Formats: sequence, structure tokens, C-alpha cells
Amino acid sequence: MAKKQFAVIGLGRFGVSVARKLMEARHDVLGIDIRDEKVEDVEQYFTHAAVADATEEKALTALGVRNFECVIVAIGNDIQSSILTTMLLKNLGVQKIIAKAVSKRHGQVLEKIGVDWIIYPEKDMGERVAKQLLSPNVLNYIELSKEHNIEEIKLPVKMVGKNLRELNLRAKYNINVIALVRDGDVIVSLSPEHSLQQDDFLIVIGNRKDLVKFSDL
Ligand code: ADP
Repeated sequence: MAKKQFAVIGLGRFGVSVARKLMEARHDVLGIDIRDEKVEDVEQYFTHAAVADATEEKALTALGVRNFECVIVAIGNDIQSSILTTMLLKNLGVQKIIAKAVSKRHGQVLEKIGVDWIIYPEKDMGERVAKQLLSPNVLNYIELSKEHNIEEIKLPVKMVGKNLRELNLRAKYNINVIALVRDGDVIVSLSPEHSLQQDDFLIVIGNRKDLVKFSDL
């Protein structure tokens, strides 16, 4: 993947977690926080780190924030700063803005400003935990719409040793297999003769109700 430039504003737990993963994937990350000690704590993980008040336009301009492909506003508890910063970024013409919201109302304001992606970390994580408890065979999922998901589901034991033609999942369960995950590798060009093994995961797309039926097998 081509190297991208990200800026993360607010180096609390959320901001640092996002930044670390981006750095691990070898992208450039500029970290910004208003508090010196926050910057000092984490600067070794970042390409650059700066102490600045992100609600000041001059500071953002001096750091060249407008040139970043994506800016993540990870200021949460100080809602006023989060909103002011986001508005400034929007006015500066930043291409893609991602912001964390700590409440529904905070999220609604961010939406009005035109944030591209609003994240509710606690709500999203809570929902993920509940989903994992309710469907232990689902490793990962993406909500495509109110009705449809893509899910990574553990191969039901009774299907071990069978191939996709025999299983005929589209006809029997109304789901479509996109890929297979085996030992951490994703296999996308699957033939109908592909024999499935224990510990395989199927990446499938379908209606949520059908996916629940399949993952409960
Ligand atoms: P978390 O729950 O992820 O730890 P917090 O909301 O507690 O998130 O932390 C957000 C970070 O944002 C803090 O480190 C805080 O110093 C920083 N911050 C708050 N206001 C500003 C601002 N105006 N400019 C830059 N950083 C800020």
C-alpha cells in the first residue's frame, strides 16, 4: 500500500491506538496534543509530534495540516475543542476528517459540520462485545446496510471436509461466500471444488437473519 499522511489530533487512549496501528502499517503520522507531557510520552511512536492547540487556526496552518490526506480528531471529553477543531479543519479544506464523538449530541454536531466518519468508541465497542457474545462463531463483521452484513464466520463442524459445490450455501442458506481465511491467509479465488478444513473461516455476504442461522449451526 502507498504511504499515506495522517494527522491525529488529541493523544489520549483512542488517538494513540489509532496512530500506533497506522505507524505499524508504515504510514506517516503527525500527532498533535495541547499538553507537553502527552506529546513527550508518545513521540517515539510518531513520525512527528507537536504540542499545539488545535482550536487555533494559526497552529494548524503552521503544521501544514491541510496537506494531510486524512485527519483524525481524537479529542473527546472536551467537546468544545473537538467541535472548534473540526470546523477549522473543514474550513481549511482537509480532504477527509474522522472524529470521535462521546455522545449522540456531540455526534450530531459533527455530522452537521460535515465530518466524513464519526466514531462512537464506547458504543461501537459495546455493540461488538454484545455481538461476539451472541454469535461466538463470528470473528469479524461489516454492516453494509440495515439488513446486510459481510461476516467472517467459523466453518461449522459438520461442513469440515466438504467442498463449496456440495455445501451449496447459496441455495441452502441464502448466503454468498466471498473468500476463505485459512491460517491467517485470505484465499479469494475459490473453486467450487475447494475442500474446507477445520479452523477455516468463511467470509460471507448476506441478509443478517440468514447469517445468524448459518453462524448458529
Ligand atoms: P481518550 O478517552 O481517548 O483518552 P480524551 O478526550 O481524554 O480521550 O483525550 C483527548 C486528548 O486531546 C487529550 O490528551 C487532550 O490533551 C487533547 N486535547 C484536548 N483539547 C485539545 C486541543 N484544543 N488541541 C489539541 N489537543 C487537545
